[in-house]
Amino acid sequence: MSAPARDNLTSKNIVAFLADIFERRGGEEYLGEPVTMAEHMLQGAHLAEQQGEAEAIIVATLLHDIGHFTSEFGTFSMNDTKDKYHEVAGGRVLERFFPSIVTDCVRQHVAAKRYICATDPDYFGQLSEASIHSLKLQGGPMSAAEVAEFEKQPNLREIVRVRHLDDAGKVAGMATPGFEHYMPMLQRVVDAHCGAAGG
Ligand code: FE
Repeated sequence: MSAPARDNLTSKNIVAFLADIFERRGGEEYLGEPVTMAEHMLQGAHLAEQQGEAEAIIVATLLHDIGHFTSEFGTFSMNDTKDKYHEVAGGRVLERFFPSIVTDCVRQHVAAKRYICATDPDYFGQLSEASIHSLKLQGGPMSAAEVAEFEKQPNLREIVRVRHLDDAGKVAGMATPGFEHYMPMLQRVVDAHCGAAGG
């Protein structure tokens, strides 16, 4: 089956489109981490499912870095001197098909790292070396004013949860189900958002 074209996406082919991205691009290195991009996202989703999280959290974790594959700004490198806003690109790709609880978690997963660094004294010590490097490019821990602003978001709890799952999904050799395991769940979330009749 050929993959749907990017400019012809509907609620009926978006899941196949995402599967195709994982298939073709998922083997790429997650720079600075001991896992590929697909392994990283599948590990986070698997941990979320094992911990009994809601489908929106599992789906958001599975797709949080999808912007690395769609961003015109390219992919992260340890040599980067500027951040490349993959979280914004990811949110943009998903917003037609997924509810805001999912897209907020995707859009805010970088800001969430800056937020948790400012509010949880133990968190910085749990970050990977690559994540600490990108934290600097992303502006470092939030200021008190930024924390207060960030806490106004309706999906704050979910955003923080997805960020912790993101950080946990960086384990060399962890066995997880493949992307196909999550396709029925993805379709359920899309259908609930778009209406089962699609569009
Ligand atoms: Fe990530």
